Amino acid sequence: MSNSQKILFVASEAYPLIKTGGLGDVAGSLPAALKTLKQDVCIIMPAYREILQKVTGLTLISIHAEGVPETVRLLEGRFPGTSVKLLLVDSPHHFDRQGGPYLDAEGEDWTDNAERFATFAKTVSAVALNQTGLDWQPDVVHCNDWQCGLIPALLSLHPKRPATVFTIHNLAYHGYFHPDTFITLDLPKQLWGMHGLEFHGGLSFIKGGLAYADMINTVSPTYAKEIRSQALGYGLEGLLNYRAKRLTGILNGIDYKEWNPATDPHLAAPFNHRDLSGKALNKQALQQQFGLPQRANTPLFGLVGRLVEQKGIDLVLAIIPQLIAQNAQLVVLGSGDKRFQQSLLDIAAAHPYSVAVHIGYNEPLAHQIEAGADIFLMPSRFEPCGLNQIYSLRYGTVPIVRHTGGLADTVVDANEINIAAGSATGFQFETSTSDGLWTASQRAIQLYHTQPKVWQQLMVSGMKQDFSWKQSARHYLTLYEHAIQHRNDDVADMNRLAPVQAVPEWPL
Ligand code: ADP
Repeated sequence: MSNSQKILFVASEAYPLIKTGGLGDVAGSLPAALKTLKQDVCIIMPAYREILQKVTGLTLISIHAEGVPETVRLLEGRFPGTSVKLLLVDSPHHFDRQGGPYLDAEGEDWTDNAERFATFAKTVSAVALNQTGLDWQPDVVHCNDWQCGLIPALLSLHPKRPATVFTIHNLAYHGYFHPDTFITLDLPKQLWGMHGLEFHGGLSFIKGGLAYADMINTVSPTYAKEIRSQALGYGLEGLLNYRAKRLTGILNGIDYKEWNPATDPHLAAPFNHRDLSGKALNKQALQQQFGLPQRANTPLFGLVGRLVEQKGIDLVLAIIPQLIAQNAQLVVLGSGDKRFQQSLLDIAAAHPYSVAVHIGYNEPLAHQIEAGADIFLMPSRFEPCGLNQIYSLRYGTVPIVRHTGGLADTVVDANEINIAAGSATGFQFETSTSDGLWTASQRAIQLYHTQPKVWQQLMVSGMKQDFSWKQSARHYLTLYEHAIQHRNDDVADMNRLAPVQAVPEWPL
């Protein structure tokens, strides 16, 4: 086991305080898992109104650090349900408002997002440099996604800085702004340039993480490879290839306390891999709740997630007529693009005995679908890690996934060899087409009907997999050690490469 490290974990969301997706799950679990491994860990987040309403017993700390506005303060407390120290960057003008962490009530980006997360980054950097009176200097600062991107860049300018790690949870989101923003945010001008924060003439927050962090990782080994290609690199593949020695993939864990079918309070009945009888009761309850005929031997498909193109919702829509023709049932929970929401609602209205849709975000219902469905659909075009297929494995709900990112790394296809070896846990397909998804769905339906013993073996093999955080947290410790070891190796290079340039015209 590694020696105890001081880790400052930086995130723009963390469950149960605030969550919009997988990053929230990771930030809600990994710091506590690191603490279990005897690390000295502290999580720092923006003091959103929603968090201020949830956390009690906060202490106020005034800060007088260079570059941090005087109106910004720190609040110190405990992360709920853990012994992890929580720091909140309290800038009321930026974070104490009604709405989501990144979007307003209309679902549009907050227009001052660049300023909000630049203020956050400057404050976190001051904390990381032990300039805020906390008397605590971290060894490693672990940053996540574009909202934290400026932190490794700002810290790179300080010789006595901690090592930095940057985790990409989804490279599709860059935090990309007008180049004038670079001036209005008053960022150090050495950071501008094609080897710095500039990207196609604009200001890219995520590039700060990719160019300046001592180590970079994504949330699965396969996605770490995929983002080095043109197809999934979003124009950043050149930089990622340049930094390939510092880039790795660590699979996310899941919170086994939250997601345990033997103890889950949201379920109609508990079950585990030794006794699956409760699973049938959950299926019945789910069918009843959604007004579907309560048929035990009908394959019930489930889908939970953001209803966006990334998740292959169009592919699901395309195969629904075939699912109905095969007498299968489908339950969908999610929200996202209006056109997908409407199409799903229309199909459910036309086929109320086969398809049921709930638009919205609903944590208990997500658990009930994972427990009640037989088969889980996750035909993502790309998937950095994906959590729902892991929850499905845990709940004996056989996943159908596209062979990409974390889906490829977590689901073992039920081909003849893998079935014979007892390692199969689900179904994979290669191409992002409705035919690809339908072929995999047909294989699943056939196996479900014709080989119940093999089907049960798939369920049990999935349920026995170990995707606990303990495993992943150990990998993160090794990553932190690498970051400390390679501190400044490339970053000095980046600063040498970065010429001070005039800000170009926008758009190019
Ligand atoms: P992403 O981060 O791309 O949205 P992940 O599969 O990594 O996808 O994580 C999604 C997380 O959000 C999971 O915990 C999932 O259960 C949850 N989730 C997504 N949509 C909903 C919803 N409508 N209701 C409840 N939970 C949801």
